[in-house]
Amino acid sequence: MNNTINWKGWLAILIAISLGAATFMAYPRLESDPPRIVGPAELSIGEAGTTLTLQFIDEGTGLRNLQLRMVHSGGGQVVFEESFPGAMFSGGNPGKTHEVSVDLEPRALRIADGPATLIVTARDFSLQNLGEGNRSEVSIRINVDTKAPRVEAGGGLIYIYRGGAAAATYNVSEATASDGVRVGDRLYPGYPAPNTAPEAGKRVAFFAVAVNAPRNPKIEYEATDAAGNVGRANLRAKVFERNFSEERLYLSDKFFDRVVPPLAESVGVSAPTNVAAFQQINSEVRAKNEERIQSLIENSDPVKHWTKSFTQFANSKVMSRFAEQRRYFTEGNEISQATHYGFDLASHAKASIGAANRGRVVFAGDLGIYGNCVLVDHGMGLTSLYAHLTEITVAADQFVERNQSVGTSGATGLAGGDHLHFAILIGGTYVDPLEWWDANWIKSHVDARLQASH
Ligand SMILES: [Zn+2]
Repeated sequence: MNNTINWKGWLAILIAISLGAATFMAYPRLESDPPRIVGPAELSIGEAGTTLTLQFIDEGTGLRNLQLRMVHSGGGQVVFEESFPGAMFSGGNPGKTHEVSVDLEPRALRIADGPATLIVTARDFSLQNLGEGNRSEVSIRINVDTKAPRVEAGGGLIYIYRGGAAAATYNVSEATASDGVRVGDRLYPGYPAPNTAPEAGKRVAFFAVAVNAPRNPKIEYEATDAAGNVGRANLRAKVFERNFSEERLYLSDKFFDRVVPPLAESVGVSAPTNVAAFQQINSEVRAKNEERIQSLIENSDPVKHWTKSFTQFANSKVMSRFAEQRRYFTEGNEISQATHYGFDLASHAKASIGAANRGRVVFAGDLGIYGNCVLVDHGMGLTSLYAHLTEITVAADQFVERNQSVGTSGATGLAGGDHLHFAILIGGTYVDPLEWWDANWIKSHVDARLQASH
């Protein structure tokens, strides 16, 4: 024997090196980090089905396969599965988020109403567990509910004017995710009827026929449960059409020189002329301010904060009424249009302004064209607005009593002189304050309805 290595020896060394290299290269595939499954803890599935969206992420070796299995009283079945190709050394596609959306329809899945469990499993390309990979499992509690809430109309025929409001009462047969009165594409939310237990299902909704609602709008009760089933009932209403007067405003040089420039600066409008600045303020800025108001009053308190009728600015003169169709002119040219969604009331300068009724201040501050502005939530979707104030004497979240001062009148924002711009909104729709100032209207249109719901 000499000292040279024979061919068998070389082969053994070669195999050892190859195995070492393979082990080294495949080492990352020995990771023990299982895939992550991101999804809801529970899900309600309604008659029309629900789309479930899940995310799968595996940081180590990537996703190998996933499966969704529904287990219910009638048995169990795989509702979705998916596998991914992998390479020997690298595995799959690590770190990439894989999203799965599955439509779960009770009829297609033959699941009866009641509880079920969706078991979601995923494996990765790890060589752990004898090469089977790391496994994750998540259970999602499922509630199958294919029955829509029943809605039962309360009270009789409802009379409502265009630009006006009404109260409607109704009963719902089960807890809802949302309910109320739908007028066209707007849902006016319902709330538990005062002095009733929420679980009794007795509901009240204040609703409006907006100034610009379509003619003969479809009005109905609507209740949606957590599973998305929608129950509806006809609301018997008579809508009285109403024409709103046109008002021509001839703007003075003084207005363009004194009011427009400081307002343009404070709302961030820069335009080549004061007329152009006014046009932008009266359209784009106005729209932006209205959007802001919508978001500020979105979450009305579910209780009725008030009992008496709303009060009107004492000893004031009506300068402008609700829903006047305003056309603005300068030097004989029409330069802008807007609907005036409130009352303009004037007294002496810096007169004390009282809250029209009991409520919670939801906003107190600068609001563009409305200047210094206060918004009071009276509960159940009812809001009052006080604009152009010189001074504000309340703060957000503070409760105010009926007639308690919220500030002093003024001409801040888009205003030609000292006055109060007063408005009332129902579920975000401006309505005529005249109804709310009228104790008899409140008695017959609100109190009578609410009492009947007991
Ligand atoms: Zn006004």
